[in-house]
Amino acid sequence: MRNLLITGGAGFIGSNFVRYILHKYPDYRVVVYDKLTYAGNLENLKDVAADFAGRYAFIQGDICEGVGVRKVVVEQGIDTIVNFAAESHVDRSILEPDAFIRTDIYGTYVLLETAKEFHLARMLQVSTDEIYGSIAEGYFSEDDPACPNSPYAASKAGAEHLARAYYVTYGVPTLITRGSNTFGPYQYPEKVTPLFITNAIDNAPLPLYGDGQQVRDWLYVLDHCAGIDLVLHKGQVGEAYNIAGENERRNREITERILDLVGKPRSLVRHVSDRPGHDRRYA
Ligand code: NAD
Repeated sequence: MRNLLITGGAGFIGSNFVRYILHKYPDYRVVVYDKLTYAGNLENLKDVAADFAGRYAFIQGDICEGVGVRKVVVEQGIDTIVNFAAESHVDRSILEPDAFIRTDIYGTYVLLETAKEFHLARMLQVSTDEIYGSIAEGYFSEDDPACPNSPYAASKAGAEHLARAYYVTYGVPTLITRGSNTFGPYQYPEKVTPLFITNAIDNAPLPLYGDGQQVRDWLYVLDHCAGIDLVLHKGQVGEAYNIAGENERRNREITERILDLVGKPRSLVRHVSDRPGHDRRYA
């Protein structure tokens, strides 16, 4: 029996991961610990609460508050943490980096301290390919240095460095995953795919940054969950693993595809000024 604490489990990828794990491992128990910021939504877990009542619990809380985190770990007999909790929207990080530094870095530190104190079996830090920065051609490998270009990416890189340091210094069994741009159900509609789909349905403009030629490697959310599951169970502690979709698309292509699928005209595309520090390509 494993007792997993899934922090940020009411968000997009976290809620998909909770459902995935409970279906796949009938002897696992999952406790979701989530602050329920604007991005967290208990509706994302409504079916889970009904289908897995005996093996699932939800506790509202902030990963930056050590007392609350420790209490959950002790009272729920947690042996593993998978940390999805983060401020995750690049545009918000450019306007107000404060919450990103707090949750993404300090919050991860609190979880690492807790993993250390209670000798947890695993602490998996869900990170992002954005920590590498932009690459014109070829592909990043796990050994490439972090070169983050947004406050979001920098805060995620900081969290990763802490996770690695806790492994090297204290022997905390940390694992890191670096997933690429993820799409699928339960995503908050500020991110490009759900925003563009809902805008298209409403006949509202689709705001496309710059020339729309930025390239992202798109990963379906359940493939991302399968990658995290693989790293959690088979990964070597202290290591980081890229999780890629091998599915590169330009933003313009994604935009036009959405319009075609929703049956709306290309005239809904509105070119807007590029995002400052916008990475050209992740791979
Ligand atoms: P999301 O914004 O949808 O969800 C984040 C969740 O964390 C929300 O439920 C929110 O309420 C919770 N949260 C925020 N601050 C918290 C705090 N202080 N304490 C407890 N809970 C808190 O994010 P997402 O897109 O599901 O991303 C999940 C993780 O995966 C993030 O760490 C992100 O960096 C990473 N990631 C995302 C993508 C992507 O394309 N979405 C790609 C690679 C990696």
